[in-house]
Amino acid sequence: MLEIAKNVSLLDHNTLGVTAQTYAYSAIDSDGALRDALQYAEQHGLPSLVLGGGSNIVLSDDFPGLVIHMRQRGISASTIDGGVALRVAAGENWDALLRYCLDQGWYGLENLIAIPGSVGAAPVQNIGAYGVELSQCLAWVEGWDRRLGERRRLSAEQCQLAYRDSIFKGALRDQFIITEVGLHLRHRAQANTEYPALRQFLIEHGESPEEVHPRVVAQAVAAIRAAKLPDLHAEPNAGSFFKNPLVSADAATQLLIDFPEMAHWPMPDGQVKLAAAWLVDQCGWKGRRLGPVGVHPKQAIVLVNYQQGRGEDILALADAIIGDVAQRFGVQLAIEPRVY
Ligand SMILES: Cc1cc2nc3c(=O)[nH]c(=O)nc-3n(C[C@H](O)[C@H](O)[C@H](O)COP(=O)(O)OP(=O)(O)OC[C@H]3O[C@@H](n4cnc5c(N)ncnc54)[C@H](O)[C@@H]3O)c2cc1C
Repeated sequence: MLEIAKNVSLLDHNTLGVTAQTYAYSAIDSDGALRDALQYAEQHGLPSLVLGGGSNIVLSDDFPGLVIHMRQRGISASTIDGGVALRVAAGENWDALLRYCLDQGWYGLENLIAIPGSVGAAPVQNIGAYGVELSQCLAWVEGWDRRLGERRRLSAEQCQLAYRDSIFKGALRDQFIITEVGLHLRHRAQANTEYPALRQFLIEHGESPEEVHPRVVAQAVAAIRAAKLPDLHAEPNAGSFFKNPLVSADAATQLLIDFPEMAHWPMPDGQVKLAAAWLVDQCGWKGRRLGPVGVHPKQAIVLVNYQQGRGEDILALADAIIGDVAQRFGVQLAIEPRVY
């Protein structure tokens, strides 16, 4: 049965620790409850916000509608050639799933360890870290298509996964609610150790990047992340606040004349990816504060809510940074979390 609570605080439901309320809130644990919640929102003319772990959102103000909190649980596995096909409910915790898979001897996700949030949100921005993206393991997603009013399956290709992007941020934004995710994992214990910082860490710890077991890679990535990223409880944040910008090869060449030390990576499509952290750092923002919020002293793209700031404080800081980067480099930074 659908349960709706009114005037609920979202403080514990967003990792930025923003104090905001929602007019209505429902924890969803089945497809039936999801359909009822959507019907309730429609009947009452309320906007809806689909929520997972709240680790990639900025609440700019109180939410005047219904928060649909995806809490469905369940993992099932079947054997496929060389590996396993998993069906995972959207409300499962991503990191817990990954650790469960490692325990079972199912490999492929290990570089994505310790990313906060739910399984259902993982395809939304095609989570990625340390040289691996979800797109490398995603087989399909299933969910409720609000435009068609029916449940349907999208193949990985139909999800249009790209760097921190997917169809769920584009044509199907707010239109498709993911209820289950299909993953294909390997039995073969072959790790991806291409990412330079990961390689270096492994070598420094006496491991051979070519032969290392995926379990060791998971431990290594978890250790690198713990040393690098602020503790969410002590320093509330939403991870990387800005995407690494992509510019044309011509624009990159021009920038490199003025800033030869600029971090950059040529992409297969001819564009060049720049390091948002480097751009922000060069503008002197690392460690600076603006009211109750600020930029982490070690991570220039992590914005921290130090003193219970509101969403508007975070967004004012982001605007100031975006303005400075645009003025100095002519590069437009884009915010990675979704702003509500
Ligand atoms: C400390 C920290 C480190 C991070 N590191 C990384 C990293 O290394 N790589 C990376 O890619 N990301 C990273 N992130 C970002 C974040 O963890 C991921 O984007 C994660 O997938 C968000 O999951 P969530 O459940 O918290 O999503 P939420 O914040 O709850 O939601 C994010 C968006 O997805 C939508 N959404 C959520 N669930 C569903 C669903 N079932 N169906 C449809 N839409 C849905 C929401 O409406 C919202 O627009 C980090 C965040 C933090 C705080």
